[in-house]
Amino acid sequence: MNPILLVTGGSRGIGAATARLAAARGWDVAINYTRDAGAAQAVADDVRARGRRALTVQADVADEAAVLAMFSAVDRGLGPLGGLVNNAGIVDVAARIDEGTVARWQRMMAVNVIGSMVCAREALRRMSTRHGGRGGAIVNLSSAAARIGAGGQYVDYATAKGAIDVFTLGLAREVATEGVRVNAVRPGIIETDIHASGGEPDRAARMAPLVPMQRSGTAQEVAAAIVWLLSDEASYTTGSVVDVTGGR
Ligand code: NAP
Repeated sequence: MNPILLVTGGSRGIGAATARLAAARGWDVAINYTRDAGAAQAVADDVRARGRRALTVQADVADEAAVLAMFSAVDRGLGPLGGLVNNAGIVDVAARIDEGTVARWQRMMAVNVIGSMVCAREALRRMSTRHGGRGGAIVNLSSAAARIGAGGQYVDYATAKGAIDVFTLGLAREVATEGVRVNAVRPGIIETDIHASGGEPDRAARMAPLVPMQRSGTAQEVAAAIVWLLSDEASYTTGSVVDVTGGR
């Protein structure tokens, strides 16, 4: 049987590119989404076109009950999990901390941090040898914002991604003897829809001159790092955070 991968937020952007590349590298893929079932289905079709099995699963990663149902659906629909990409993430429109609201910060943390933690917990319950699993790999999506701080834009988002860096390191060490590797990828400015959801659809083009390589990156370039970290080629890599930022 092919190894089985769950990609949260797999219907668009980096998650969709990861699902497609993982399928090309031999993974069967479960594609999670929140709103756009048609987009998730199109990614599933691409996975099947590469000769792999695919499943789409609707769940808001901030909703614990929905996450539990999602993992059960993957168990039933595809089989025992071998990999998790904690990709689902949100930004918001630019807002200073002295203009912020607790509701916004709670949502930022609930999706970007707690959502990743709950998905990691459920994956470990299936993959860790401590729980009778056969091992696996987790890749978390951080952001260059965790290093830069995103002052004047979204410090709350950067704070959430900083938490992801620490979560990656701590969890990697916690499960290092249990057959599970945990790593993160820190994308820089990548051409996806996320910038439109932050109220700035042309952000990637506008920010390109700030990047040492003088261009934004593509979802495929981030997916390449993620899929490598999932693979056996990265068998001695755990607790690492890989920057995919064009040098920024
Ligand atoms: P994107 O294009 O906005 O896509 C987001 C994906 O996440 C969609 O599939 C969306 O599904 C899903 N999603 C959103 N909220 C969700 C939730 N609560 N539960 C489950 N799924 C949810 O984002 P992206 O640019 O590919 O970013 C992917 C990851 O990379 C994020 O963690 C982001 O923070 C990180 N990142 C991106 C950049 C960049 O420049 N693009 C830079 C650094 C880090 P629906 O469409 O169905 O809602």
